[in-house]
Amino acid sequence: MTQQNIVFSEKALELQAKAREIADTYVRPAAAKFDKAQEYNYDAARAVAEAGLFRTFIPEEYGGYGAGVLALALVAEELAKADSGFGVAFAVNALGSFPIILGGTEEQKKHWLPQVAAGEKFVAFCLSEKFAGSDAGGLSVRAFEDGDDYVICGEKKWTTNGGVADIYSVFCVTDPTSKSRRISALVVEKGTPGFEVKKVEDKMGIRCVPVVETHFDHVRVPKANLIGGRPGVGFKHAMMTLDYARPGVAAQAVGACQGALDLANVYSNRRQQFGVPISKHEMVQKMMADMAMKTEAARQLVYAAAAGIDAVGPCPVNSKMAAMAKCFATDMAMEVATDAVQVFGGYGFMEDYPIAKFFRDAKILQIYEGTNQIQRLVIARHLVRECSELDHLQEYIPTEVQEPYLEEGEAAQKA
Ligand SMILES: Cc1cc2nc3c(=O)[nH]c(=O)nc-3n(C[C@H](O)[C@H](O)[C@H](O)COP(=O)(O)OP(=O)(O)OC[C@H]3O[C@@H](n4cnc5c(N)ncnc54)[C@H](O)[C@@H]3O)c2cc1C
Repeated sequence: MTQQNIVFSEKALELQAKAREIADTYVRPAAAKFDKAQEYNYDAARAVAEAGLFRTFIPEEYGGYGAGVLALALVAEELAKADSGFGVAFAVNALGSFPIILGGTEEQKKHWLPQVAAGEKFVAFCLSEKFAGSDAGGLSVRAFEDGDDYVICGEKKWTTNGGVADIYSVFCVTDPTSKSRRISALVVEKGTPGFEVKKVEDKMGIRCVPVVETHFDHVRVPKANLIGGRPGVGFKHAMMTLDYARPGVAAQAVGACQGALDLANVYSNRRQQFGVPISKHEMVQKMMADMAMKTEAARQLVYAAAAGIDAVGPCPVNSKMAAMAKCFATDMAMEVATDAVQVFGGYGFMEDYPIAKFFRDAKILQIYEGTNQIQRLVIARHLVRECSELDHLQEYIPTEVQEPYLEEGEAAQKA
């Protein structure tokens, strides 16, 4: 259990307002065009940079506003309300930067973060591989030590922002002999010899942001690029990063919910069947009411998860909250987008209108940054741990099941 006051700082509200303005001016009107062409909306990204929105998640010491995860969520929500794809295009910069923010050395932060804050450099996060998705510990991209350098060999799969990004946080195996400390993260900059974007994926949704394969053919980077300055802590940094970034994905989902709900609201009050607007028909009213409840419930959970991280940083409760927010909000986005298409009837199925795009864009939210099955595993594991604090409730369960369950090793020890 956690109770977190959700306090919106003045800065966060100012950033939210700027994001809304950019969404209305640069994002929504161009969303269909960039989706169709599968092109990146550089005009909107420039507007985001000029408005200082990339400063949202960067600490003040490094040129940012240090406005926190809640402010990041507010901005991502506004942008995603207009176009989920552009919401990701923005938020992935935070995902790629968090390993440096949370685990980088002072020199690394000073070197890279001000450029990100200013919107001069875009960032990507390279964890997933062909054979390592949910099982992120099973990476095979190798980084070998060679004098003052690391040499990286292998392929990463599904790098969002690949090609557009200038800075890549790349998770590699540096010690294959160690089970717990195999992985390290290295920063690779665009243009480093041997580093190439090989395949731009043709996607169902979020088509305005590139998702690519990144190939590393003996890519040589100085040891100064090893995030945190020591090997073996990459997996920990990746997990911390995901805890910080998940409210941002969840906020994209809230934006998607609100965007689809708003369109369905306008449509249902204009479209007439049987002589009245369809919003007068009870079954449509039920869909609209359910969509509104799901959107608001998701929003409150996301804000609470984000506020918790801002208040106390990484901890088990915040990790669970981040997983719950990601899982719930993204499931809601899929449900709300589905019902919004239903409210639109046949028009909802047509690519002539943005509602179909909301539906296509929603699906990925349940998959990336940890599938919703994995989020449920995370949540369930936290519940098992929390059970040890509930011994006082033991007398209320049948006596036959009061003996605690012991793992195999523990049982043998007890015997
Ligand atoms: C468009 C897109 C953008 C992406 N962007 C990035 C990015 O920028 N950076 C990055 O590093 N990665 C990125 N990814 C990768 C993404 O995070 C992975 O796709 C995701 O983690 C799932 O991995 P997988 O696709 O290999 O599926 P798998 O892990 O193979 O899973 C397949 C299915 O099995 C289920 N499953 C697997 N293990 C378990 C289990 N233990 N219990 C229950 N169910 C399980 C999954 O939930 C899923 O339903 C992106 C992916 C896509 C499609």
